[in-house]
Amino acid sequence: MRVGVLALQGDVAEHRATLDALGVEAVDVRRPADLDSLAGLIMPGGESTAIAHLLGTSGLRSVLGERLETGLPVFGTCAGMILLASEVVDGRADQWCYSRLDIAVRRNGYGRQVASFETTLEVSGLGTVPGVFIRAPRVLSWGPHVEVLASHDHGDGPVPVLVRQGSAWASAFHPELTGDTRVHGLFVSSLTDR
Ligand code: GLN
Repeated sequence: MRVGVLALQGDVAEHRATLDALGVEAVDVRRPADLDSLAGLIMPGGESTAIAHLLGTSGLRSVLGERLETGLPVFGTCAGMILLASEVVDGRADQWCYSRLDIAVRRNGYGRQVASFETTLEVSGLGTVPGVFIRAPRVLSWGPHVEVLASHDHGDGPVPVLVRQGSAWASAFHPELTGDTRVHGLFVSSLTDR
């Protein structure tokens, strides 16, 4: 099974290493042809504005949009979650997103870099998983078709941090930074080989 990692900016190597550990072939995606014959795609953490800019200059923006609309399974972490959302609050004036997930997110919604934190999360079907949050987006609202697989209470009530809507998954945290492969394993096990 081949799983792509959008390799324009961000923590691409960490996602590749996690897929390697799961025995899954990781493919860097930098141009439209790289999207061919993938079982799924990971959109990494990094800077959503930088990734969005590079999606435009690489020619990937519209091709990837079509693939997402026609059901390419995708897992976005942090900046990747922002790119998959339907609405971004506190984004740049020209910030766009793919609307693959019916969620509204606030960019840097847990505060700036100094407010980054680590915690443990209860993930449906997995149990306790480490959660690393770095200038993470905060989910503000979500639609009825969005399944919440984990929430985190930052002192003001539980907020979804791992969500799934059909074949689109997103986490506000970075499972690729912990050495724990189980969240990627959940996504990978949902993919059909092709
Ligand atoms: N705050 C970043 C953004 O807006 C995301 C941070 C991350 O991916 N660690 O893109």
